[in-house]
Amino acid sequence: MRVLLVGLDCAPPTLVFDRFADVMPNVAALRARGISGPLRSVMPPITVPAWTCMLSGRDPGELGLYGFRNRPRDHGYALSMASARDVSAKRVWDRLGESGRSCAALFVPPSHPPSPLRGSMASCFLTPPGAAWTFPPSRATDWESRFGTYRSDVASFRAGDLGRIFDELHAMTAQHFAIARHVWTEERPSFLAMVEMGPDRLHHAAWDHLDPTSPRHVVGNPWLDHARDYYAALDRELGALLDVASDAVVIVASDHGARACEGAFAINELLLREGWLATTHTPSTPTPLRDVIDWKRTRAWAEGGYYARVFFNVQGREPEGALPEARLDRAIDDVRALLLAEGPVGTNVWRPTELYGEVRGVAPELLAVFGDLAWRSVGTLGHGAVKLTELPPGVDGANHDWNGVVVMSGGPFASTTPRAIDASIFDVGRTVLGLFGVDPGPRWRGHDWSRV
Ligand SMILES: [Zn+2]
Repeated sequence: MRVLLVGLDCAPPTLVFDRFADVMPNVAALRARGISGPLRSVMPPITVPAWTCMLSGRDPGELGLYGFRNRPRDHGYALSMASARDVSAKRVWDRLGESGRSCAALFVPPSHPPSPLRGSMASCFLTPPGAAWTFPPSRATDWESRFGTYRSDVASFRAGDLGRIFDELHAMTAQHFAIARHVWTEERPSFLAMVEMGPDRLHHAAWDHLDPTSPRHVVGNPWLDHARDYYAALDRELGALLDVASDAVVIVASDHGARACEGAFAINELLLREGWLATTHTPSTPTPLRDVIDWKRTRAWAEGGYYARVFFNVQGREPEGALPEARLDRAIDDVRALLLAEGPVGTNVWRPTELYGEVRGVAPELLAVFGDLAWRSVGTLGHGAVKLTELPPGVDGANHDWNGVVVMSGGPFASTTPRAIDASIFDVGRTVLGLFGVDPGPRWRGHDWSRV
């Protein structure tokens, strides 16, 4: 038994199963003889926690991963970028390695810096240019001699120069799939997981151009065809990999979806207006929170992103805490009520204990999605309003969405009639372990579709 997991970061059912399905014959063929459907992501539906949830069977609270960036254990105000060092849970390749199977983990977030496994690893998009990117380290020399200098990501993918961005996208994707084909055939791992970041970069670079439902879409713009061509190229690369993996059980999955961003919720403007947050002066243009915040007079602040994280500035806990701890619980309820009252229709606000089996690391006191992800959060100040229907500079047209995709084909999924399923992101890793007959242990979330 050999299992191939091809991850397409951010690929939504609206494109893979619908609008671009006609240029993805290899995905269609897998669906026609297997099981497929939307794949429900986690809260938050963000790359670093989502792939880790998929491949560790733990939720974001259990992992202590709440986004790309997380707060330090000492409750300092700065956020630091997540890395593979922040993942202490075992992932699928660790469990399979323990059972004697060889694995390859290629470009799976977060995997910088690369770490030992029974097989080989190429680190993910978080790898800085020139950094060590493989395990064993000697693989880098071999692979770069065959496939060129490692392309971990598309540079400045929100810069707007779409010609250059598309060139980089195609080159990156071709290189990644070439490495995957090489590793699959030369190293013959029992399990190979690869994640292609290209679709995510395409969406954040060009969503307004490719989605007619975006409020900023211009009918007839040329980049829609380029986006379709990119998905066609992805499918051709998948087909070439399937050509050398005809004996494999194949899973195609994405970590979350994407949708048009209809507006930006300037959450710190609201906290400022309502007296939770204080500033040293009032900026007149969009300004980073940390340039103007007066910590000593701030009781709550929030971070922007596809969702909002609200933190409270508690005396004796934060460096310049202003809120007595005895008032924290009431304050959390008050801010939650404020966000629900002021947010667009479909706004949801949770305490982490309502979402997760455990709350590790420094979690936000509240997590909020605005308009069921139709709106995003911005943490900057100086907008002069809370609800921004014109996106501020640096904010792109794509928000992440709840549903990715999953397709499983071959082995126990083989069928002459396609079957539609509703699956959770946790099911993917659990199913891979199930395919190999490896006991996931009691805390591994998800459903094993190989046993249906
Ligand atoms: Zn992602």
